Amino acid sequence: MFSKLLAYCLKVICFSVPNYFTFRLMSLISLLNDSPDELLYGKSGYLYALLFVNKHIYGKEAIPTSHIEKVIESILKSGKQFSTQMKSESPLLWQWHDKVYFGAAHGMAGILYMLLQARMYFNVIEIRSFVKPTLDWLLNQRYSSGNFQSSLESSSSDRLVQWCHGAPGFVPLCILAHQVFEDDKYLKIALQCGDVIWQRGLSTKGYSMCHGVSGNAYAFIQLYQATKKPIHLYRACCFMEWCAVERPGTELHHPDRPASLFEGLVGRLYLAEDMTNNLDAKFPAFCL
Ligand SMILES: [Zn+2]
Repeated sequence: MFSKLLAYCLKVICFSVPNYFTFRLMSLISLLNDSPDELLYGKSGYLYALLFVNKHIYGKEAIPTSHIEKVIESILKSGKQFSTQMKSESPLLWQWHDKVYFGAAHGMAGILYMLLQARMYFNVIEIRSFVKPTLDWLLNQRYSSGNFQSSLESSSSDRLVQWCHGAPGFVPLCILAHQVFEDDKYLKIALQCGDVIWQRGLSTKGYSMCHGVSGNAYAFIQLYQATKKPIHLYRACCFMEWCAVERPGTELHHPDRPASLFEGLVGRLYLAEDMTNNLDAKFPAFCL
């Protein structure tokens, strides 16, 4: 509902001033060479915005294919360069703030997920030669528990289970990889991530989409969408129910912006609304 409302509002704005809007969005490509590759502050987030406009607002050709291809090429180029520099076994490797992050918000899971969502703009050889082997390398880095470390050679132990770092951000990536490559191993890893999230329970960081319970609920929703097995919907409902009530003293990580989508109240409302139509629910600013 919220994403539909967002798309509708953007449509109204964009159809009123379409040339201005696309011009502004497309002009941001001037920042490409100075931007990191990750989702929250970088090229992958820009790629999401371009894909979102083409899918939900203007139709396929509002943002020209060549423009989207340039962004993809830039992400691949820095991934190849950094991999060579680091002599990595992964054909693509990206860094942010001097670390090779693995998770959805700042790391490789988020970048690979966005590249796979943009696969119609790729040639098949690049997907098979670079994206898929990078994905397989990344998935092999997981802990024996099934969770993922936050970054390469991370000194922290197996403790972060939240969308931005750890298993929850890998669920949509693995589900999409299962659809694209038709290999059951990816769905198996996605299901293992779901079990990790359930076993670790409610995040002590609180309700947030980024690093809290509402974001983790989306992993169960995504597994339900992929498998239609009620257990995943049940788990999502349990997490959502917890988020629906204010529980003083449980949110140990106080949000910088308590009303925001990614850290605050709007995220919980977004989840509650998405649960009413859970087969169409999408993690905002991540899943197209
Ligand atoms: Zn976070």
